[in-house]
Amino acid sequence: MTPQSLSPSTPSAGVADLHTHTFYSDGTDSPERLVELAKELGFSTIAITDHDTMESLPIAQPTAKRLGLTLVPGIEMSASAEGLEVHLLGFFLDPAHRALQQHLVEQQARRVERVKDMVRRLDRIGVKIDADEVFKVAGAGTVGRPHVAQVLVNRGYIATRTEAFSKYIGPDNPGFVPGSPMPPARIIRLILDAGGVPVLAHPIYLKRDELIKTFMKQGLVGLEVYHSGHTPEMIKHYDKLADRLGLLKTGGSDYHGTSREGSPIGAVKVPCALVDALRQWKETHPATRTS
Ligand code: AMP
Ligand code: ZN
Ligand code: FE
Ligand code: FE
Repeated sequence: MTPQSLSPSTPSAGVADLHTHTFYSDGTDSPERLVELAKELGFSTIAITDHDTMESLPIAQPTAKRLGLTLVPGIEMSASAEGLEVHLLGFFLDPAHRALQQHLVEQQARRVERVKDMVRRLDRIGVKIDADEVFKVAGAGTVGRPHVAQVLVNRGYIATRTEAFSKYIGPDNPGFVPGSPMPPARIIRLILDAGGVPVLAHPIYLKRDELIKTFMKQGLVGLEVYHSGHTPEMIKHYDKLADRLGLLKTGGSDYHGTSREGSPIGAVKVPCALVDALRQWKETHPATRTS
């Protein structure tokens, strides 16, 4: 038994960042570098939560072990509800779970088709970029909108990647295509089946608090109360909401390396006691495994 699996009466010491990305999705750091950086900054626990992939986990594990940093298996998965982009975090899930693996393979293929679709939509408004260039920028793992944004910068259509999200590929923009057609209920179920703890990421981006109750009926367990995009007032709001609804609380920087400004690793530090609570929930709720 690791010290972290003891009851909350003996909470783990240290701080955690439970939302980070590597270059296996749209971050710019290798998994090894991310772990080193976290250690240098004094974290004792991190979760790598790449979009729709867990490829980083086995790559990061040896470095984490060498440095004595606890690595929580994690993921950030895309879903759609009422035409809105919903991001769900999964913690402590089994990357080898068959239904999860199958979903991730399908989702990678969907993301490739999505980029081609975005390129076609942009072409219609006279913005000419090449899907192959986007795939080249993305490299290993998941391809996503930040890679499209980078190519738009490279081609001189915009000056910064952020501009891409307000002009070309954000919701309501001509090049927008949702990240996944999957309803949140499906994704929550997948995370639970894979032995994980499902958590709603950055609720402020969704701006629809009333949906949280619906997600809870579908199995949602936690809320990302602390996030680099949350102001102190928002944190207070979501903290109260989590207490009122009985949701576990998580937090993280949403660090993306140099591909996204304003969310450096270390921007959000949460006590490891929150990680204990996730682990304890998992231990008292055995996976509803279907394969
Ligand atoms: P995707 O999963 O392909 O839809 O891409 C989602 C990612 O795009 C997020 O995780 C962020 O890294 C990035 N992103 C979303 N909105 C913005 C924005 N307004 N400015 C910069 N990056 C953004
Ligand atoms: Zn991202
Ligand atoms: Fe997200
Ligand atoms: Fe993220």
